[in-house]
Amino acid sequence: MKVLVIGSGGREHALVWKIAQSKLADKIFCAPGNGGISKQAECIDIKAEDIPALIDFARKEKIDLTVVGPEVPLALGIVDEFSNYKLGIFGPNKKAAQLEASKVFAKQLMAKYNVPTAEFKIFDNYEEAKKHIEKINAPCVVKADGLAAGKGVVVAKTADEAKQAVNLMMQEKIFGAAGNQVIVEECLYGQEASIIVLTDSKEVIPLASSQDHKRVFDEDKGPNTGGMGAYSPALIVTPGLFQEILNKIVYRTIEGLAKEGLNYQGVLYAGIMITKEGPKVLEFNVRFGDPETQAILPRLKSDLLEVMLAAADGKLSKISRLGGLNWDSRACVCVVCASGGYPGEYEKGKVITGLNDADKMQDVVVFHAGTKRPTVGSSRYPSVQYLTNGGRVLGVTGLGNTIKEAIDRTYQAADKISFEGMHYRKDIGYRALKSEIGISKF
Ligand code: AMP
Repeated sequence: MKVLVIGSGGREHALVWKIAQSKLADKIFCAPGNGGISKQAECIDIKAEDIPALIDFARKEKIDLTVVGPEVPLALGIVDEFSNYKLGIFGPNKKAAQLEASKVFAKQLMAKYNVPTAEFKIFDNYEEAKKHIEKINAPCVVKADGLAAGKGVVVAKTADEAKQAVNLMMQEKIFGAAGNQVIVEECLYGQEASIIVLTDSKEVIPLASSQDHKRVFDEDKGPNTGGMGAYSPALIVTPGLFQEILNKIVYRTIEGLAKEGLNYQGVLYAGIMITKEGPKVLEFNVRFGDPETQAILPRLKSDLLEVMLAAADGKLSKISRLGGLNWDSRACVCVVCASGGYPGEYEKGKVITGLNDADKMQDVVVFHAGTKRPTVGSSRYPSVQYLTNGGRVLGVTGLGNTIKEAIDRTYQAADKISFEGMHYRKDIGYRALKSEIGISKF
C-alpha cells in the first residue's frame, strides 16, 4: 500500500523509519520531508498546511493512508477534508483537534468529565485577568487559548510576570487571535511524563511512557524549546500509576469527547504532572510528540502501520484481541543536536560530519529533523551528504539494557557528529537515572 506522512521533523523521520519496516508498506511519500527522510521516503514539495495540494496529491497517487505529524493541519481540518474524498487518514477531525488547538476547550472538557487538572479560570477580558492574578498571586501559570507554536505558556514566579504575560497575549496580541482568551491556572509541582495512546474512540492502545526535556540547557535551565531530548520508559510511571492515568485521564477524556459527539480517532497525547495528589493533566496534544516519538518507536516491535490503519478504520479492537503491542524491554534515549543560537536566531547550511559513523553503531538510529541534501551537482559540497536546515537538526537515539546504558550509547554516537555551532544537552535521561539507581538500591 501507499502511505503519505505529513511533516518535516524528527518525529516524521521516526514515523517514516517505522512505517518503512512494515510489510504492508510498498511506497512511502513524505510532504515535505527532510534530507534524512529522503532515504526511506520520496519527499514531495508540498507544505504540511497546504491541504488542497495534499488532497490533489493523495488522490492522484491513490494514497491508502495519510499520517499527519504536526498539529496545525489537524487543527485546520485536514482529516475532515480527506474524509470528504474518502481518503484514508489517521488523526482526529477538526472539532476533536480542538483538544490541542483550544486550551479553553480542553479545560472545559476536563472540568465537565472530572479529569484531574490544575485549578483554572478562563478570561476574555484583560482587566479581569489582571484582577484575578492580583487576588491569587504568584506563582501561577498563564496560557494563551490557541496554538502558539509551544510558546503560549508562561509559568510565572511573580504576579508582575503573570500580568505582563496576560498583557502580551491579550493586549499586544503577540500570538494573534490565539490570545483572545487566556487561562490563569494553579502552578503544579512534581515530575512530568507523557502518556501517548492510539484510539478509534472505542478502543485505546497505549504506547510506552516517556519523558521529554523542554529547556535548552542542562538542569532545565534557559528558554523553552521544541524539545531537546526524551527517553522511554519514564520510570516514574509505575504500572499502577500508568493504569491510574488511563482510568482517570485517558478513558474519561475519550468517553467525554464521545458524549460531546466527537469520535476521537488518532493519537491522544497527555502531558502529565505527577503531583502529590496524583497525576494531573498539563496539556493535551492531538498528535505524536516530538522528540518523544523518536524515543518510543525504536522500542516498538509491532507493526505501527497496521495499528494506525486499524484505528483509522475504527477497528482497533482487532489489535487488542491479538494481544496489543509488543515492546522491546530495553530503554531508549534521544538527544537532540541543535544549531548554534537555537531556540533563538540560528544559521542554516552548515556541513554535518560523522553521521555515517554514528549510524553504523549498533542499536543507534539518527533521526533527521532539520537537514537537507546539497543540491545535486553542487561543486561547493562534492562529498557532503547533509547540511543543517533548521533549529533542531538531528535526534540521536540509542537503546540500552538500562537507561544508563542507553544514555552512554546515545552520547557516544552524538560525540561522533559535528557541525559548526552544534549544541546538545548533556543530561538527557538524568532524572530517570536517579529513579533507576533508586530502584536497584531498594
Ligand atoms: P503545556 O504546553 O500546557 O504543556 O505547557 C508547557 C510546559 O509548561 C509544561 O510542560 C510544564 O512544564 C509547564 N506547565 C504547564 N502548565 C503548568 C502548571 N499548571 N503548573 C506547572 N507547570 C506547568
